[in-house]
Amino acid sequence: MSSAAALPQHIHSTGDLPKVAWAKGSYVYDVDGKQYIDGSGGPAVYCIGHSNPEVNGAIKEQLDRIAHGYRYNFSSDALEELTEIIRRRCGGTLNNMVYVTGGSEAVESCLKLALQYHAANGEMSRRRFIARERSWHGNTLGALSVSGFLERKRAFEGSLLDVSRLSPANSYRPVAGATAKTVGEACAKELEDEILRVGPEKICAFVFEPVVGAAGGCVPAPEGYAKRVRDICDKYGVLLISDEVMCGAGRTGTWRALEQDGVEPDIMSVAKGLAAGYLPLGAAIYTDRVADVIHGKHGAPMTGHTFTGHTACCAAGVAVQKIVERERLVERVHAMEGKLRSMLVEATKGIEAVGDIRGRGFFQAIELVADRTTKKPFGAERKLFMKIRQRAFDNGLICYPVGGNVDGVNGDVVILAPPYNVTDDELVEIVDKTAASIRQVLKAEGLA
Ligand code: PLP
Repeated sequence: MSSAAALPQHIHSTGDLPKVAWAKGSYVYDVDGKQYIDGSGGPAVYCIGHSNPEVNGAIKEQLDRIAHGYRYNFSSDALEELTEIIRRRCGGTLNNMVYVTGGSEAVESCLKLALQYHAANGEMSRRRFIARERSWHGNTLGALSVSGFLERKRAFEGSLLDVSRLSPANSYRPVAGATAKTVGEACAKELEDEILRVGPEKICAFVFEPVVGAAGGCVPAPEGYAKRVRDICDKYGVLLISDEVMCGAGRTGTWRALEQDGVEPDIMSVAKGLAAGYLPLGAAIYTDRVADVIHGKHGAPMTGHTFTGHTACCAAGVAVQKIVERERLVERVHAMEGKLRSMLVEATKGIEAVGDIRGRGFFQAIELVADRTTKKPFGAERKLFMKIRQRAFDNGLICYPVGGNVDGVNGDVVILAPPYNVTDDELVEIVDKTAASIRQVLKAEGLA
């Protein structure tokens, strides 16, 4: 059976896929020996590159002792060490966690922790979530409900939670009446207006990605936005949930993405970069204030799964995070942000369709537009982002093009999320191949 036949006929199906054989560092090889440079760490996951012997060794060592100590029977060295590392990296009062095996489960757990917090506080009326358009929080029903990604939700409408939805906070595409400078305040005001419209006593939490990933294309929170939403949430007793599944764990140049905005959320999710794809791992992390209420009333979070705190997964997370810390990779990402941005600007010079280049750290995106002045996107029927993905693949580059960032249907963005330890030469190859692939597709489409 071909790999395409085994795939669901998804709207974004990539058709016949090559079979992966092995990988080392920033390079992946298929069974035919074709080499690909991993410019996006897959979907912003493989943050220390592939086949790291130290991580593989740590996993094997753990497997040789015990793969999985079930959470109701045992704690483990790996789990306790990982908890200490995450506490240290988060700083502040984010000292409590529920471990899971991926991003959707992490977000789902964040939502449940927020609901449980209000229940423990005796405020059972606080059941409603507020989230934003052009956001992606995952594929489980709760996480999908708070997501603002039309194409991924359409088939499930009718069975999703009723969620209040706000405009995306995007300096390149400010809401009507706002500018790049005022969009943060305008979007924060939308949050306050919605809380007041529904009634603060009914609002459980506001959920957002500090740097929007797949649904927007590396859109950082506008200046001042995160602090304002923090204040508004505090004013009305609403919890602030930061979804850092994609932008967290160092990807944007600080371990927590919101650290750069000077904000501590009440609850946050982390996943992709935590164990860097070596094994599935995620976490919902919550503050002592939230923990005091939940633990005080109910003893423990009423969420978790069979594989919560899976020992080998935690061992993978510990090994990855030790490397990230020892080699000062988050600091490296922060220091190299400007360089990567300048390289992208330089390499795409003269491509009229490049409307915006944005992001934070090693989480950068190029947005393509049909008209730079009006910022009008190319029509969705062109599936430009899909063609760029395929062309890049043919050229031996893995990048992460996404569509629908403008209105849920139209828009084309190419995301790059290289490993934190990518070499200078590899970075040049990634940037050059990205620009070349975009140029080739635009030319083939008669758009350049
Ligand atoms: N949250 C964000 C911000 C994401 O980018 C993703 C996945 O891309 C998820 C949640 C869901 O994570 P997963 O695909 O691991 O379930």
